[in-house]
Amino acid sequence: MEPDYIIEETEPPGSRYRGHRFEQKLSPENVFPSKTAKEILKPARGPGFFISPEIRKFKRHYYKGVTDAEWNDWHWQIRHRIASAPDLERIIEISADESEALSHQTGRFPFQITPYYASLLDPVDPHHPLRRTVVPVTAEEFHSAGEEDDPLGEEAESPVPGIVHRYPDRVLFLVSDLCSTYCRYCTRSRLVGRTHCQGSIQERIAGGIKYIAANRQIRDVLVSGGDPLMFSDERLEWILVNLRRIPHVEVIRIGTKTPAVLPQRITANLVRMLRRYNPLWMSLHFTHPEELTDETNQACERLADAGIPLQSQTVLLSGINDSAAVMMELFHKLVKIRVRPYYLYQCDPISGSSHFRTPVATGISIIKDLRGYTSGFAVPLYVIDTPGGGGKVPVMPEYVMGHEGNTILLKNYEGKIYRYEDNPGLSKAICEKPQE
Ligand code: SF4
Repeated sequence: MEPDYIIEETEPPGSRYRGHRFEQKLSPENVFPSKTAKEILKPARGPGFFISPEIRKFKRHYYKGVTDAEWNDWHWQIRHRIASAPDLERIIEISADESEALSHQTGRFPFQITPYYASLLDPVDPHHPLRRTVVPVTAEEFHSAGEEDDPLGEEAESPVPGIVHRYPDRVLFLVSDLCSTYCRYCTRSRLVGRTHCQGSIQERIAGGIKYIAANRQIRDVLVSGGDPLMFSDERLEWILVNLRRIPHVEVIRIGTKTPAVLPQRITANLVRMLRRYNPLWMSLHFTHPEELTDETNQACERLADAGIPLQSQTVLLSGINDSAAVMMELFHKLVKIRVRPYYLYQCDPISGSSHFRTPVATGISIIKDLRGYTSGFAVPLYVIDTPGGGGKVPVMPEYVMGHEGNTILLKNYEGKIYRYEDNPGLSKAICEKPQE
């Protein structure tokens, strides 16, 4: 039987998913009783994005002749990704080290940047924070002690391809291997952007859904990858609708860096589709305040206006965001666009990451400099995802200084000590209450 519709046409050129069809089909009649399949599949255009003045200047200079409509079309951005040294050289002065690293790219974690994100890079300074996150350097070719390709032991906790089941009531569902822009510090650099991943993507997704349906304790599914927003709206909806059909799945989350690297993807059509699957949360990924452009703000506001709760994860990176001032600016900008800073991650010890990793003391000191000096909800939880699959462990400055009998000694954000009379007697009294 022919599928209800064919989705490969909406996949970006070069995508390994082009040509695939889903066997288990989303039935448009069930989900959209009032629309024909043809209407649903109209390309997502929606009201356009504006282009901020700095980015327009960049576009005029390096992409002469490209119309605003093309620039704001996420497919155009994907098709024109910067993926080689000559591409990059056209817009920035490549350092000798970057040039050498780019010449060793074959078979390695890919280098790709959207033209939009490239517009945010400093063209002359190789130490520019955003540039360091996306342009390879030779340091990533050196493996230090304790580094692993899979430091979090995800493979060992994967009962079926694409599922990581570490915590009892939730799973990580890796549906995509692709991203629009590759972060050099990516925890899953062993998987994303590669072509050797296990099995076909549709088999992996169907198998993951089957696993989630069969395990009734799973109430929370984090749909991640790669970046799930690299899928067409229709493919993403197919995943969401199938997850929503599982009665015990209460919450769906989508993990994505798209609003930071490809805000044009957050079209009105995408947002309209996503809002149908509430409670749906989005875990966004921001690294530096310079990512919060007008375009990115607009993308986040579209999502927030649709009632989708937004939270952000940030990886602590040496020389990029490892100061309280940078973090404070980032978190303030995020809460202004209704994105709640959620986790600050110690950078995972992936192979070739030593130039990105800070001492843990740096993270603790940043949290100490934020807590009390800004709103509590603007301070994320600093965590180390423990190597070997132990899960996330919060790492905090010390606030409980000790006990004196029933008195707890607490240090406040200014370093002053306060005493809190604890009440351990209450539960004791209840326990010791004579039985009738
Ligand atoms: S967006 Fe996420 S999955 Fe993609 S390269 Fe960056 S960190 Fe990795």
